[in-house]
Amino acid sequence: MAQDFAAETLAPNAMRWDEEKHFPVEEMRAAAALGMGGIYIAEDVGGSGLSRLDAAVIFEALSTGCPTVAAYISIHNMCAWMIDRYGDEAQRQAFLPKLCTMEHLASYCLTEPGAGSDAAALKTKAVRDGDHYVLDGQKQFISGAGVSDVYVVMVRTGEPGPAGISTLVVEKGTPGLSFGANEKKMGWNAQPTAAVIFENCRVPVANRLGPEGIGFKIAMAGLDGGRLNIGACSLGGAQGALDKSIAYAGERKAFGARIADFQALQFKLADMATELEAARSLLWRAAASLDAKTPDATKLCAMAKRVATDTGFAVANDALQIHGGYGYLADYGIEKIVRDLRVHQILEGTNEVMRMIVARGLVGRAKGN
Ligand SMILES: Cc1cc2nc3c(=O)[nH]c(=O)nc-3n(C[C@H](O)[C@H](O)[C@H](O)COP(=O)(O)OP(=O)(O)OC[C@H]3O[C@@H](n4cnc5c(N)ncnc54)[C@H](O)[C@@H]3O)c2cc1C
Repeated sequence: MAQDFAAETLAPNAMRWDEEKHFPVEEMRAAAALGMGGIYIAEDVGGSGLSRLDAAVIFEALSTGCPTVAAYISIHNMCAWMIDRYGDEAQRQAFLPKLCTMEHLASYCLTEPGAGSDAAALKTKAVRDGDHYVLDGQKQFISGAGVSDVYVVMVRTGEPGPAGISTLVVEKGTPGLSFGANEKKMGWNAQPTAAVIFENCRVPVANRLGPEGIGFKIAMAGLDGGRLNIGACSLGGAQGALDKSIAYAGERKAFGARIADFQALQFKLADMATELEAARSLLWRAAASLDAKTPDATKLCAMAKRVATDTGFAVANDALQIHGGYGYLADYGIEKIVRDLRVHQILEGTNEVMRMIVARGLVGRAKGN
């Protein structure tokens, strides 16, 4: 179903949305009507109650139509899950039904101008004043900013470091909440990216997810699944580029033969398919471990994100090469995939940060910790 939706609704429009920098909200609501607005959200609030493995399959399929739109839907799902998992009953009932239909859209607000990879250094402060927190600070690079209705925001309510961070749900229209201009980007043009600014912004204490001080834990738990989804989006984009390359190689002629007849090119295609399958296998294994809540799930999600996003970019870039000069032209749709997949190596934790997460466990063991 996701594959059909990608082919019928996303793929025919993806190039135009990229060029016009159009955020296709209505089409995303159509995806939500098919159950993709709350894939792994409980059914009592309108979610689909599926697994992380199901989500990995769905996001790969959606991305064959447009990785950018699929990736935004994945961020939306991550935010909804954070509310489902850590919210109380009142919060779940207040926010999730409209998020599952995507009548409301959600944004994840962790990064700040001075705190990217070192997210626990975030400075946006939330000072308690009776039944409210008063927020001051700025979030940077927020996907969906300005359009989204619900902002899941990591703020500092206490001491420096991760233990002083809490998570608040901030609704669009709250006085003191404003947005920067839409950033001009290399790719991901079918969704807005902007700063989210808080100036004396009063947010009800009732909008805090869980107790004070667990916000960093909530943020990282969201990212475990988010990283699987972004990895899946890379696989789908790259699979689409590989499929186009196979078709093109069967038509394009050089030296009196189809370029698909050259063994060097056949080997290139074989390697692309093999690397993608290897990355997919690791991603599905990581998704299964997150579903089973195994102790190594975070490590496996980090491994899978790095491998899937690096492999996805490399395969898309090879696909561009197979298309020769035509790959560099917008009309063939390959350069867009390369531009879109590049950022997956940077966001939801850079691939260097993924190595830090994996290495932490290894070095800890070497020390006997
Ligand atoms: C299009 C786009 C959309 C985004 N959407 C969101 C969003 O919705 N919500 C959100 O919260 N954030 C979002 N981000 C932010 C993204 O998660 C950050 O850009 C990313 O985490 C990196 O942070 P930074 O840009 O500050 O880079 P920095 O942290 O400054 O890193 C710079 C470089 O140094 C490397 N580096 C840093 N520390 C180490 C280390 N210890 N060892 C080795 N290398 C290191 C990094 O890997 C990187 O290569 C988005 C970013 C982009 C570009």
